[in-house]
Amino acid sequence: MKLNVMEVLRQLPKTNCRECAEPTCLAFATKLLKNERKLEECKPLFSGEFTESRRKLETILQAA
Ligand code: SF4
Repeated sequence: MKLNVMEVLRQLPKTNCRECAEPTCLAFATKLLKNERKLEECKPLFSGEFTESRRKLETILQAA
């Protein structure tokens, strides 16, 4: 399955908070797809508010 960066971005918080040290969520999504970053590095995703998005991301990244 070929995963599109926009599919990943859709599930990220899209706040561009920079907690992951990337300038934008799009940059983080791009690196996630290249296996240069790990999902765990987006701390807001693990805050509880984004539990459903995190689960979707885990599923689509595993399937990719
Ligand atoms: S930590 Fe998560 S929400 Fe913040 S910029 Fe990075 S990918 Fe986006």
